[in-house]
Amino acid sequence: MWPWGHAAVGYLLYSLLARSSGRVPSSASVVALALGTQFPDLIDKPLGWTFGLLPAGRSLAHSLFALLAVSAVAVGLARRYGRPELGVAFGVGAVSHTFADGLYATVTGQYADLSYLAWPVLPAPVSEVEKSFLAHVVLLEFNWHFALELVLVALAAALWLRDGRPGLDLVESVLGVDGRAAEEPESGD
Ligand SMILES: [Zn+2]
Repeated sequence: MWPWGHAAVGYLLYSLLARSSGRVPSSASVVALALGTQFPDLIDKPLGWTFGLLPAGRSLAHSLFALLAVSAVAVGLARRYGRPELGVAFGVGAVSHTFADGLYATVTGQYADLSYLAWPVLPAPVSEVEKSFLAHVVLLEFNWHFALELVLVALAAALWLRDGRPGLDLVESVLGVDGRAAEEPESGD
């Protein structure tokens, strides 16, 4: 699954979880969630593909053993700072990423490709694609995977708008943009 697909799956899950307890996601938790949804690839792709320190682009940080441990540490740290929901958001994002990566293998019955979930107890799956970012980007085409991920992005975007666009204020403040000022109509002369 591509980064935007992971972001969408994570947001849909986290927002529905928050809504089930009568809340909407906070801005800070959406940032933690976004980081979590990309975390497994941010670790495994460079270490596996670029530096050759891991056996595959889905191994250490896609393993449920590692992700549950990292998520527990994230929740512990966040709780220490009085914001446990940030650790939960990170964990939901990271765990949703690794299950979403298994979606296509599950649908097509290629269950051996799910072995990364239990790495290193099970060996990392062997990819037929060269271990590089470029080799994967070149394979990007409009197929049912791509279409499904666009649908997920559209659903997540709709939910995010309904939730009040959490996280946008933080992005605007980092970029030095005042979104409210931009939305206000210009006053007359
Ligand atoms: Zn991944």
